[in-house]
Amino acid sequence: MQTTETKSKVKPINCSHYINGKYVPSTNGKTFENVNPATEEVLGTVAEGGKEEVDEAVKAAKKALKGEWANMPVRKRSAILRKIGDLILERQDELAALETLDTGKPLWLSTSVDTDRAAYNFHFFADYMTTVGNESYQQDDIAIHYAVRRPTGVVGLINPWNLPLLLMTWKLAPALAAGNTVVMKPSEVTPMTATILAEICTEAGVPDGVVNMVHGFGETGAAITSHEDVDAVAFTGETITGSAIMKSAAPTLKKLSFELGGKNPNVIFADANLDDTIATTLKSSFINQGEVCLCGSRIYVERSIYDEFLDKFVAKTKELKVGDPFNEDTNVGALVSEEHYNKVLSYLDIAKEEGGTFLTGGKTADNMDKGFYVEPTIITGLGKDSRCVREEIFGPVVTVIPFDTEEEVMEQVNDTHYGLSASVWSSDIKRATRVASQIEAGMVWINTWFLRDLRTPFGGMKHSGIGREGGAHSFDFYSELTNITVKL
Ligand code: NAD
Repeated sequence: MQTTETKSKVKPINCSHYINGKYVPSTNGKTFENVNPATEEVLGTVAEGGKEEVDEAVKAAKKALKGEWANMPVRKRSAILRKIGDLILERQDELAALETLDTGKPLWLSTSVDTDRAAYNFHFFADYMTTVGNESYQQDDIAIHYAVRRPTGVVGLINPWNLPLLLMTWKLAPALAAGNTVVMKPSEVTPMTATILAEICTEAGVPDGVVNMVHGFGETGAAITSHEDVDAVAFTGETITGSAIMKSAAPTLKKLSFELGGKNPNVIFADANLDDTIATTLKSSFINQGEVCLCGSRIYVERSIYDEFLDKFVAKTKELKVGDPFNEDTNVGALVSEEHYNKVLSYLDIAKEEGGTFLTGGKTADNMDKGFYVEPTIITGLGKDSRCVREEIFGPVVTVIPFDTEEEVMEQVNDTHYGLSASVWSSDIKRATRVASQIEAGMVWINTWFLRDLRTPFGGMKHSGIGREGGAHSFDFYSELTNITVKL
């Protein structure tokens, strides 16, 4: 089988920091272990950075900001970005296997989504940056006003574990396109692909000091977010971490971009095409073990089709194979870590205490001896105040609730602090668009899910984020404008 072969060829790596174009250990030699969540085996060691390493990385980034990168002709910088995308594709098998070893996600997913999109993030911004123009206004015969862009400066890029390479490149590509220098901090749980990304940047022609990386835990991240020479922080992760970062960045007034947690509704009306709805809902519930911020974990179904929907959805969910992420036919791999596995299991206990009914799953996958596997779980019988309906579980767990009217479902949909994304299923386009525009979320899909165009605004409102990423939105975050007025 192709997947097993790939596994045997790829060796896990030990992860060092990357500062000023070189891999370096921590000055005190401190490391921690990186564990494969699918087997519980130790994959290797990761350097644990502190204030000292962050300081070195920021110094290198600050120096490089005055170097050739920001002033390089756009065509040349664009060609380097394109080359990074090409090199990601050249090393795609290796990167995908490392991503699977780190995260426990199926290899087919690491290949078809994570690494593929990582390359595309660079290819997209390599093209996009050559089209970026600036505002200008003629004020009668009095003056011309025009804006010019400069890089925001030294930017901290801090990322979570669920889509490690995809999300790091989603920030790094526009940051580089706009001429910034960066200090990246990948999640301590999934450090391998970002480590390789750093050397790929150098190989593609990014000057030393432009891309730096420090590994470590929350304190390492905090050393970046509180550093006086870091001008901006782009963060993806939990809402509560976003709040801590905001506090630590406040004294130095950093520019912030936050992509945070979600508890996304999936609203299914009786006139929806049920086969399409179920096929996509299966993905929006359980792909990547439910560890996608956009997963639709609150499913609302109009009562007249509730039983039929459940019969079909349960049958399809029971067909999903939980297993070794390197097997081609695995649908659901391992959760990312023991800590996260325990968190997800604790929500299954809460659901039991709250009187929920498990139509599938509700437990550890019993076909696996080792690793952190949880069966895809469908829960009914929970009300709108249930913790499992309100809190982000971030695992293969969904709740299904029936509704009778549009007004009733809309009230439940918006009764949350989160506001990341939603899906609406209906063949009545008037209703679908009406409902979509009333949902308090940054992104709403009608009759689909996770269909992306990288030019569109990506991000959440309420406690799900601040600002938007994608196309012009990313460019605006990673650049500062100076308006120049010429008196005529
Ligand atoms: P997390 O907030 O625990 O960690 C994210 C990163 O922040 C890690 O690199 C971590 O080391 C670092 N960190 C932790 N404490 C810090 C601090 N005080 N200062 C600076 N950095 C700190 O999140 P996670 O558990 O890795 O990821 C899961 C979360 O990410 C979920 O809530 C999910 O919804 C969210 N997420 C959101 C999006 C989005 O686009 N909105 C995308 C993916 C994941």
